[in-house]
Amino acid sequence: MKKISIILAAILLSVGASAQELKEGYIENAPQHEAYTPSFKYDGSTRKVRNVILLIGDGTGLAQISAGLYSNGGSLTVTNLRNIGLVKTQAADAYTTDSAASGTAYSTGHKTHNYAVGVDVDDKALDNIPEICQRYGIISGIISTDNLNGATPACFFAHQPNRGMTDEIWADLPASSLTFFAAGSEEQMEGRPQETQDAINKVFTVVSELPEDASGIERLGYLPPKKETQSFKYGRGDFLPATTKYAIDFLSARTNRRKGFFMMVEGARIDKSCHANEYEPAVREMLDFDQAIEQAIRFAEADGHTLVLISADHETGGLSLAADGDPAKGNTHGRFATGGHTPIPVPIFAYGPGAQYFRGIQENSEVAQKILWLLTGSTHQ
Ligand SMILES: [Zn+2]
Repeated sequence: MKKISIILAAILLSVGASAQELKEGYIENAPQHEAYTPSFKYDGSTRKVRNVILLIGDGTGLAQISAGLYSNGGSLTVTNLRNIGLVKTQAADAYTTDSAASGTAYSTGHKTHNYAVGVDVDDKALDNIPEICQRYGIISGIISTDNLNGATPACFFAHQPNRGMTDEIWADLPASSLTFFAAGSEEQMEGRPQETQDAINKVFTVVSELPEDASGIERLGYLPPKKETQSFKYGRGDFLPATTKYAIDFLSARTNRRKGFFMMVEGARIDKSCHANEYEPAVREMLDFDQAIEQAIRFAEADGHTLVLISADHETGGLSLAADGDPAKGNTHGRFATGGHTPIPVPIFAYGPGAQYFRGIQENSEVAQKILWLLTGSTHQ
């Protein structure tokens, strides 16, 4: 009897899932910004790549980019770029990845199991891009609108078998190879054991507000109050684009012309909005992410030795755009097929020297391998 009821429950569950109502949403008069078009002077050239800025839109598939594009009147900085490819996101043990397995692929060049943060399928630590770059005198920074222990940023400094191990992930921070980090939040750090906080404060200058003059600071951690990295619904301002610009200045001021920097910028809340099937917040997050992208492209344009990559760890929500809408007015209409992730390949956009290597279809792990090869001149697999 018990067995039968378990089977019945399983059937009911699966029926419930397939009969799930399609959730939809609208945005009207979206807050549009002017898209930036660079000169393309060194785009796709073989000039030396000294700096790489990798921008990860969590959950950002082609539909999320399209939603931003049409809500912004038909242009975005990211869609002005010319070197474009696709990225397959499967985990080592799963057809549909989570942010940790895909984040590890992007941060180490290796596929791993879902929930893994910077470790392989046997839970052994994998060297991440900041750690490998440090051996070559290249410094690194990370920025996210998620908490610092969120799966994507954590993959660039921590080595833990499960993304839920929040205290252990924070405890990995002092031994990391980061020169700069910015993410949520002041309250998150205060919630950690005192010994972890002390260890972090020993290595980093941790601030809740970005200092105007950072010339005396060697390694900087920016953990603003929670509301400044949360969804726009809760009053976030220009944290992502402003901190991206600040971090570029901070890192480039600490490198000489021969050795550069690596930076990862995550627009984390596109994913979170799509999990909740909230279309309008997802579009607003996409528009904000595009303004962070603009900061990176403007720097690359002026520098000439910087490669900018924009991609995603996976798609979230199975988003599609409905036929009605009016891009000129910033009106679009989205429909979600799921509250989870999908295995659909995600776009990658590239600008600057080396951008040509990201065309075609590639695995997420290959993106990291190419970044390391371009920055260090060696393969790391
Ligand atoms: Zn997600």
